[in-house]
Amino acid sequence: MGAELLRPRPLFHEKIWGGERMRRAYGYDIPSNHTGECWAISAHPNGDCPMLGSWEGQTLGSLWRGHRELFGGLEGESFPLLIKILDAREDLSVQVHPDDEYAAAHEHGSLGKTECWYVLDCEPGSTIIIGHNCATREELRAMVEAGRWQELLREVPIRQGDFFQIDPGCIHAIKGGTMILETQQSSDVTYRFYDYGRLENGRPRPLHIEQSLAVATVPFVPHEPERETRRVSGAEVTRLVRCKYYSVYHAALDGAAKLGWDRPFVDVSVISGDGEIDGLEVRAGDHLVAPAGYGEMDMHGKMELIFSHV
Ligand code: ZN
Repeated sequence: MGAELLRPRPLFHEKIWGGERMRRAYGYDIPSNHTGECWAISAHPNGDCPMLGSWEGQTLGSLWRGHRELFGGLEGESFPLLIKILDAREDLSVQVHPDDEYAAAHEHGSLGKTECWYVLDCEPGSTIIIGHNCATREELRAMVEAGRWQELLREVPIRQGDFFQIDPGCIHAIKGGTMILETQQSSDVTYRFYDYGRLENGRPRPLHIEQSLAVATVPFVPHEPERETRRVSGAEVTRLVRCKYYSVYHAALDGAAKLGWDRPFVDVSVISGDGEIDGLEVRAGDHLVAPAGYGEMDMHGKMELIFSHV
């Protein structure tokens, strides 16, 4: 095989709401017990992963700029996807993202943000916030002004293995006790809608109520789950979502299977267990990118993986 798997090295971001679970779960050398985010496959300027292996010395961003052939000559200024693991010990603020059109007009030409979450682990009784309970934008505004947050936010119980697509305009928050793998558009325009009245260094963090009310989808319509499962020899492969920006799959491997997608590149994250991919030993917490033309990955072992492609 000519092409070689790309090996980005994860970067970590400390957050007030973060924890230390990523050390236990994946053996990561995290900077502190408040580590909220692992940027596992990222070429974003706020965390551009250095490459391991034969591309050592480069970053994913420099490969994107200088070796576009690795990504099938895909067009665009930035590598389109960002894969993160989030460890929320505390609740994250309730937020909403604009779509491309609103972001282009109001955020200096930025992209909007569509994201999705695969629940890696959560404590019993964990919930997330996804959507709201208002029928009209007037009602939403009135409830915000009256501070009736409990009634207005739609909070749902979660379990390990759940998956949520978060479209632009969807009000959302990860709550404490939850670790997720996030696949998202490589963008960072976030409007903070509600922060539980918390203080940071004695002051509330800024909110973006007007922007949130402008971009929120009203009424909220839950995504129909679209799981579609197929058996590929030793693996059960489930497509979790297919949208304008990405497709995301979960694979449970027990034995051997050849898996591949004929796409400009494929992101690979091992989320549990261990095994081999084309002779490379991998275990939970490892992340790879199969470049353009790589073909099928020959996998062995007992592990779960998340794949994504544009
Ligand atoms: Zn978000």
